[in-house]
Amino acid sequence: MLVIEAEERVAAHQSGHNSGVIHSGLYYRPGSLKARLCTQGRAELLEFCAQHEVPHQITGKIVVATNQRECQALAELARRGKANGLTGIEHLGPDGIREHEPHAQGVEGLYVPQTGIADFRALAKALARAIEEAGGEVRLSVRAGKLRRENNLWQVQTNHGLLQARKLINCGGAWADRIARAAGARPRIRIVPFRGEYHTLAPGAQHLVRNLIYPVPDPRFPFLGVHLTRMIAGGIEAGPNAVLAFSRAGYRWRDVSARDLLETLSFPGSWKLFARHLKTGLGEVQRSLSRAAFAKALKRLVPELEEQDLISAGSGVRAQALGPDGVLVDDFQFEEGPNALHVLSAPSPAATASLAIGREIARRALGMGHESAR
Ligand SMILES: Cc1cc2nc3c(=O)[nH]c(=O)nc-3n(C[C@H](O)[C@H](O)[C@H](O)COP(=O)(O)OP(=O)(O)OC[C@H]3O[C@@H](n4cnc5c(N)ncnc54)[C@H](O)[C@@H]3O)c2cc1C
Repeated sequence: MLVIEAEERVAAHQSGHNSGVIHSGLYYRPGSLKARLCTQGRAELLEFCAQHEVPHQITGKIVVATNQRECQALAELARRGKANGLTGIEHLGPDGIREHEPHAQGVEGLYVPQTGIADFRALAKALARAIEEAGGEVRLSVRAGKLRRENNLWQVQTNHGLLQARKLINCGGAWADRIARAAGARPRIRIVPFRGEYHTLAPGAQHLVRNLIYPVPDPRFPFLGVHLTRMIAGGIEAGPNAVLAFSRAGYRWRDVSARDLLETLSFPGSWKLFARHLKTGLGEVQRSLSRAAFAKALKRLVPELEEQDLISAGSGVRAQALGPDGVLVDDFQFEEGPNALHVLSAPSPAATASLAIGREIARRALGMGHESAR
């Protein structure tokens, strides 16, 4: 098995620019791929991290409702969590919230004991080592370009010459739809990149957060809502927001790719999304441009936090799959072609679920090609 990675290191994009949270499986619709692979993947992840000395810790987290509408959504979250096999979820009142997080404030809350934190860059490095120990190879700085099938083999043109493969697995993250199209697939979805920006808490404010404090997600935009997270390497991160990125590697406002932007703007789904959710989008832009607005969102959860407690930190770019109708693709999505498997959508909690997703990919890949052999 050969893995090619365009960048000079593994986890250069989403896997190395995320919140570092081992998700419990609380949010996901029971029966969805996300629910199944997150639950399965979390267990496998913990075992792998322990075996391969990847820094991680189970911390638990609280989800805080700050008004009555959010309390209803909180009850639905608890129901989903139980349906997804979580045990030990506690319903909290204002005092219960303060017992877990003395500086957090809310009307009601949930405590989820299974959530944790991990160093996903270290995980990716350990996975690369495990592939090589099992006889595979990981080649860095090799970018796939043109792809075609000839004599039952994939011919992969790269910046380091031609490679041949019997089976093609595309895990290209923000570039996955483009790679799929280059391989002759016709995915309906388009990847639209959204940047999530983070702040760290200044040392003087870090005592305000013990572990993880989350808002109740809006069911229409489950990935929105800034949260506070203790990081495995130390410190507390706040974020991420979500603003349209002008490049699939658009980690800053000034990162612009004409090709990427054109692909976003020429896709009818993008305009439908913008038109439908203009107000939400503008709120996210405001939080990007104004530290005061970012702090205001966090103050709903921890009122003592002030604007000056926030220090700009890095960002990550989400590979958000979008349908032509402007609907965000919520679940993981795979598409199969002749001896090819395209992972078209692997958003959060795909880092938590990575080992289970890998197993799912292997299962599908092993089954590929049998039809033509018969
Ligand atoms: C802001 C943010 C916060 C998140 N927080 C969490 C979290 O706390 N917990 C969690 O479980 N999940 C989280 N996620 C989700 C998780 O990080 C991602 O879903 C997961 O990392 C996706 O992995 P991937 O391998 O599909 O994509 P990526 O990690 O983006 O990898 C795709 C790779 O493909 C390579 N590539 C692209 N094109 C080519 C080419 N032509 N040739 C060769 N290589 C190519 C890229 O260089 C890249 O390294 C978060 C995501 C974001 C963006």
